[in-house]
Amino acid sequence: MVIITMAIRVRFAPSPTGLLHIGNARTALINWLFARHHALKGEDATFLLRLDDTDLERSDPLYAKAIEEDLAWLGLTHDQFARQSDRFDQYDQAVARLKATGRLYPCYETPEELDFKRKRQLARHEPPIYDRTALKLTDEERRAFEAEGRQPHWRFKLLPEAIHWDDLIRGPNDFHGSHLSDPVLVRADGAYLYTLTSVVDDIDLGITHIIRGEDHVTNTAVQIQLFAALGGDVTHLHFAHSTLLVDVNGASLSKRLGSLSLATLRESGLEPMAINSLLARLGTSLPVEPQLTLDELAQNFTLSALGRASPRFDPAELETLNHKLLQVMPYDQVQGRLREIAPSLTEAFWNVIRGNLRTLEEACQWEAIYVGHITPLIEDRDYLGQALGCLPGEPWDTATWGLWTARLKEITGRKGKALFMPLRQAITGMDHGPEMKELLPLIGYGKVVERLKG
Ligand code: GLU
Repeated sequence: MVIITMAIRVRFAPSPTGLLHIGNARTALINWLFARHHALKGEDATFLLRLDDTDLERSDPLYAKAIEEDLAWLGLTHDQFARQSDRFDQYDQAVARLKATGRLYPCYETPEELDFKRKRQLARHEPPIYDRTALKLTDEERRAFEAEGRQPHWRFKLLPEAIHWDDLIRGPNDFHGSHLSDPVLVRADGAYLYTLTSVVDDIDLGITHIIRGEDHVTNTAVQIQLFAALGGDVTHLHFAHSTLLVDVNGASLSKRLGSLSLATLRESGLEPMAINSLLARLGTSLPVEPQLTLDELAQNFTLSALGRASPRFDPAELETLNHKLLQVMPYDQVQGRLREIAPSLTEAFWNVIRGNLRTLEEACQWEAIYVGHITPLIEDRDYLGQALGCLPGEPWDTATWGLWTARLKEITGRKGKALFMPLRQAITGMDHGPEMKELLPLIGYGKVVERLKG
């Protein structure tokens, strides 16, 4: 028996008009995990990166580059790449087709006139839907507007039909063409708007699942009609709209997005897998736990786990998760980066200190303890002298600390913090850290003697 599975093609489509932030990263991750989940099952699944850069004034190649770098840093590599600014011919053709079929019509209202109409409708408690005045214009009236120097913008004529889709996250959605405004697809300056370009691309690139934020739900209603008008196969198209992240108080993140850019999060020393581990589970009832690889997250990923409530993004939770991730991070996963920040740190030392790191950068402090460049904290020289006197000779192992401090306890009568802390402070220069019984054999006899002497 031959089982034919439909190829899966998803896309993440940021506009290069700014840096990616945590909310964009979540959309990218959800798309990536969805494709990867299917690929791991042996299905044909593709993740596309599409740069929505038709707004030539606001788009910036520097942002485009930063987006690619941020995605690569998160590990969200793409199988295919598209850039809207390379595809103007396709948009020209789509516009010609819509004009030919009477679905795109010229409008001459100025922004002020439209604003006035909208305010009047709202004052009358009517929905602010475009009144289609332009559809009633005669050729002569159009010519008169153009003679005045007005350039038309172009609206897509929605059909007065029910629009329905079963959203893979939100469940059934129902709209009606009569209750929506005909969207502008081409501005008066000739610029193509996202509603158009996105649909043209989603058709041409064979997208099967459009997974994006809930702020696009109304766009979807309109775009479903546009897909059909451009010959797209809507019956095989799936939509999923994820809820938008909010802050810990439930407020929109929009004002704080600058500080929540991936660039800022990366600079603050967070691990990409901490961000991925949190974003993959936010808004689901699954536990947030550190995962070392994207594949672990992809294994059981399903859109249906994403709930309807807005997930709260708490930077403190991300920091905690980063700490937990480092605790279980194997040496080979950090070795490359450690070589740059703490080159002499061995695997054995990494395994002992990793539980104490909030960021990988902090490994530098511990490297200093390892290689000997620290200033011991010394308050009571006599006590340290006594400690030196009963320090066991090498070879050392994890039992050495216990033997040493038991002897020291007998000699001095000290116990608890008074017994241990001065030793830790002298040997590490700090009053907290990994267990001394683990550290001692790694630091070694020579350096311990040196530090106890101050
Ligand atoms: N460029 C759009 C955005 O950034 C893409 C939305 C979509 O996924 O269709 O919001």
